[in-house]
Amino acid sequence: MAGNWKMYKTAEETADFFHQFNSLVDGNSRCDIVIFPTFVNLQTAVQSVANIPVEIGGQNLHWGKEGAYTGEVSSVMLTAVGCKWVLVGHSERRQYFCETDANVLKKTQAALEAGLSPIICVGEKVDERKSGHTEQVLIEQFAAGVAGLTEEQFSKVAIAYEPVWAIGTGQTATPEMAAEAHSLIRQEAAKRFGQDAADQLRILYGGSVKPDNVARLMKESELDGALVGGASLDPQSFSEIVKSA
Ligand code: PEP
Repeated sequence: MAGNWKMYKTAEETADFFHQFNSLVDGNSRCDIVIFPTFVNLQTAVQSVANIPVEIGGQNLHWGKEGAYTGEVSSVMLTAVGCKWVLVGHSERRQYFCETDANVLKKTQAALEAGLSPIICVGEKVDERKSGHTEQVLIEQFAAGVAGLTEEQFSKVAIAYEPVWAIGTGQTATPEMAAEAHSLIRQEAAKRFGQDAADQLRILYGGSVKPDNVARLMKESELDGALVGGASLDPQSFSEIVKSA
C-alpha cells in the first residue's frame, strides 16, 4: 500500500503524521507500506519510520546523477537520504510537467541503476476511455516505460494503474474495470518478460481509493495493492486502508 502525498504537508505535519500512524499500523505484516512525501520532507519521513517497517520514496527523479539541472533531484540523492522507492510517470507529471514516455524510461533506468524500486504509473484519460482507446494507451505506456529492461531489472519494478479520470475526483474505477486493466498489463508483461515475471509483478490500483471502497477493490485477485493520494494524508484513514490489504 503506497501513499502519494503530492504537494502536501510541511516537515512538522510529516512528523505529526508518523507520530500517529506508526502506532496505528504497529504489528502490520499484511503488506508493504510506502509513503511518498515531498522532497524537502524525505529526511524527516525516513527518520520517523526508523523503527517500523514502512519505507519512503520520492515522487519523481531526474535521470542524471548530478549536473546543471536547476530544481531537479537525482536517484543518487534519493538513495542517500534513505529512499527505497520512487514514483515515475505519475499522470500529474505527465499532464502538468511535460513528462513523456521517453523520459519515463530514462527515469526508470536511472532509478534501477541506483537501487531504487520504481513504481511506473500508467492510465488513460477520460476521452481515451470514452473513445475506446484504453487498451492502446495502457499497452503503449507500459511498453515505453519498461522497454529494454532486463528480466532482473523488471523484477524490481511495480506498476500503478491509475485512470486519470479517477485521480482526486472521487470517481473510482469499478473493481471489474480495474481488474480488466491489470490483467491486460500482466499479459503485456508476460509477453515481454515471461509468465513467471508477470505473475510476480505487483500492480497497484490508484484513483480515489478510500477506506470505504478499498475492500471491494482488493477482493479482485488482479489488484496487488493501491496507490493512494488524498486518503493517505490522514493517519487514521491510511491505516484503515493498510488494514484492508
Ligand atoms: C494519486 O495521487 O496517485 C492518487 C491516486 O490520488 P487520489 O487517491 O487522491 O485519487
